[in-house]
Amino acid sequence: MPATVPVRVRLAPSPTGTLHIGTARTAVFNWLFARHLGGAFLLRIEDTDRERSKAEYTENILDGLRWLGLTWDEEPVVQSQRIEAHRTAIEQLLASGHAYRCFASDAELAAMRERQQAEGRAPRYDNLHRNLSPEQQQAYIDEGREAVIRFRIDDGSTITWNDLVRGEMRWAGGDLGGDMVIARRAPASAIGDPLYNLVVVVDDAAMAISHVIRGEDHIANTGKQLLLYAALGLTPPLFAHTPLILNQEGRKLSKRDGVTSVGDFRAMGYTAEALVNYMTLLGWSPPEGIGERFSLEQAAAVFSFERVNRAGARFDWDKLNWLNAQVLHGLAAGELRQRLLPLWQARGWGEGAGADAGWQEDLCALLGPSLSLLADGVDQAAPFFATPEPDEAALALRTDPGSRGALGALLERLPQGPLDAETAQGLLAEAATAAGVKKGVLMKGLRAALLGSLKGPDLLTTWLLLHRLGSDRERIAAAL
Ligand code: GLU
Repeated sequence: MPATVPVRVRLAPSPTGTLHIGTARTAVFNWLFARHLGGAFLLRIEDTDRERSKAEYTENILDGLRWLGLTWDEEPVVQSQRIEAHRTAIEQLLASGHAYRCFASDAELAAMRERQQAEGRAPRYDNLHRNLSPEQQQAYIDEGREAVIRFRIDDGSTITWNDLVRGEMRWAGGDLGGDMVIARRAPASAIGDPLYNLVVVVDDAAMAISHVIRGEDHIANTGKQLLLYAALGLTPPLFAHTPLILNQEGRKLSKRDGVTSVGDFRAMGYTAEALVNYMTLLGWSPPEGIGERFSLEQAAAVFSFERVNRAGARFDWDKLNWLNAQVLHGLAAGELRQRLLPLWQARGWGEGAGADAGWQEDLCALLGPSLSLLADGVDQAAPFFATPEPDEAALALRTDPGSRGALGALLERLPQGPLDAETAQGLLAEAATAAGVKKGVLMKGLRAALLGSLKGPDLLTTWLLLHRLGSDRERIAAAL
């Protein structure tokens, strides 16, 4: 392909389900490649499966791509609106003799497959209706039979292409399953619904797609599609087949692995930044210098197919979690609050009566460094929005005389007005001395009283925040 051809790539999702992690990863590689070369990243909604395609899935896919930051150029193309162009291409193939009507019935095809199986051969169409005479065709029509339209695939042909990921590829025409159906069964006077390989070729050509970047499960389709490009007199794009995403056992990631849709990851509390970062690493080895934590823009600056691996990419939760923690730890408190607010609001947690405006941001500054998922910022924030139920360890401390005495002494000294860190430290020392216990005993008791648990973020900051919220006094009193 001459260097002057503009780079135009596309994602062609079928709206028959929510945005799958594999589709999203294909989107990432398309986006990075387009942005690296200053090309266009386009979308085509492949909604020709009328029964299974749903508008809500299209919405889900577009939402997911937007959330991930995978912005696209131009209005998405809707495949079902291009049916006339698909039919015209089929007419062209019929006229040029590259395609023909096949009247074989389901029963005949099933019998053929059984025969092949009995003989230990791979199932394929036997091209039996390839050369029907006009009289034979008419006889089938008179019988009331309908026909599919098949595209001729010469068994002796060899298809080759230089794959941008996998290098030289070679496919024998004889291994493509026989003449391929390109339009569903319909009366012989009509053209039935056009099928995947045909419509993809027609649409990719119409959209002037320069590079088709998609999962390696499409390799056999590429062989068929290259034959269609040639038969239609169209210039084919270049192809890049990306490795599959594998589960921990090394098998293709599937619905059975549980979490597979981008929305699932989002609901679990993963950030878009960490998820796109992780998907980029699924099959691409970044060059030296950018490390493993990077933005889409940083990856786009250095992206190339030379560093895309051929081997499948195993899903690694630890790495995703690590990346997510890195993203969360790097967020400014105000930004973290913006992201947590909808989750807090979903729990019915409001501003906190009587509190000053900045307390939630200070809470985020307190919790941020210990978050690994956004959802952790819900669990860990809970005691700041409502009095927590004490756990067993916290309850046990209520009967400890030393702890009780020190908490009582602290309560007596607790100011009504504002409290700063230095004064608070002083009060802790005074109260512990007055009760005759070590400061550590009081700290433990105070944590249990305030948070209902012996675990949690920095105690002094926690206490000062709860004091601002006006809830330290009652919680300490309740623990006595
Ligand atoms: N609709 C196809 C899919 O979702 C598109 C494959 C392609 O990129 O050509 O698998």
